[in-house]
Amino acid sequence: MSAKIIKGTEIRNVILEEIEAEVNEIKEKHGVSPGLVTILVGEDPASISYVTAKIKTAQKLGFKEIQDTQPVDLSEDALLELVDKYNNDDSIHGILVQLPLPKHVDDKKVLNAIDPDKDVDGFHPVNVGRLMIGGDEVKFPPCTPAGIQEMIVRSGVETSGAEVVVVGRSNIVGKPIANMMLQKGEGANSTVTIVHTRTKDLAAHCKRADILIVAAGVPGLVKPEWIKPGACVIDVGVNRVGEKISEKTGKKIAILSGDVDFDAAKEVAGFITPVPGGVGPMTITMLMKNTLKALKFSLGIA
Ligand code: NAD
Repeated sequence: MSAKIIKGTEIRNVILEEIEAEVNEIKEKHGVSPGLVTILVGEDPASISYVTAKIKTAQKLGFKEIQDTQPVDLSEDALLELVDKYNNDDSIHGILVQLPLPKHVDDKKVLNAIDPDKDVDGFHPVNVGRLMIGGDEVKFPPCTPAGIQEMIVRSGVETSGAEVVVVGRSNIVGKPIANMMLQKGEGANSTVTIVHTRTKDLAAHCKRADILIVAAGVPGLVKPEWIKPGACVIDVGVNRVGEKISEKTGKKIAILSGDVDFDAAKEVAGFITPVPGGVGPMTITMLMKNTLKALKFSLGIA
């Protein structure tokens, strides 16, 4: 039987409606909207398109949004001053510095300069620590892992006692999602294994998984025979595997593929996310959710 396709676009729409309703309610009661600034240094085309998508979503939800674009030769000190300006701006609740930054800037230094209470990306060491502790300590779960967890929960997949295998150990996806799934609480309580490039038998681990989360960045890495029948497969990978002409715009666009052989895997899995249209749309959505949360924390209503 073919797997149920978990559509990130549909789940995104539901969550965005929930966020918009809450934004309107807060606006009425407290006269304030969530404020999000995205700082972009330079003109990297991929970064511009990510920032534009974030800003458009924020606008649609009625956020106050600032797109602060800076020249590629902006000094590290000037960037740190800019971050500090937004740290001290009460109308801004979330600060996002778009990565990658130019080579002359130490991105760690910049991310660490963001006020942890405005760090809606969840990359500041304070928020990484809060995530590790879990429970009420968590303020801003990083956006892609938070999106993955929402997709699993909203699809009705049982996580408690489930064997979760995470392929990849990056700081932005693999490690945080593994940490989130093992916490005590709803949508978690799983038994988690992380596998990576040095793992001896990747296939054997994947085959045990009730929930298989793949974030390696290797197209077609996970084969259908590595999937336990009925498992939930979350494919985080976004790999450019070619180019095509868009039917909508007539422009050249990238052909994207995930880390899982989707067509074959969907015949074995119980649930599966497509690429594109799976995890991707959830990331921006969770950024909006974190920014709303930041406002609620600042109002003492979170
Ligand atoms: P990364 O390169 O930082 O980490 C990849 C991890 O996968 C590493 O820990 C590595 O050990 C592991 N890995 C790589 N090849 C492997 C192999 N052959 N076998 C076992 N493990 C292997 O990447 P990342 O930032 O975590 O991103 C992973 C993928 O997810 C990329 O394709 C990226 O584009 C995508 N991504 C998507 C979103 C989204 O919003 N949809 C967000 C973040 C990342």
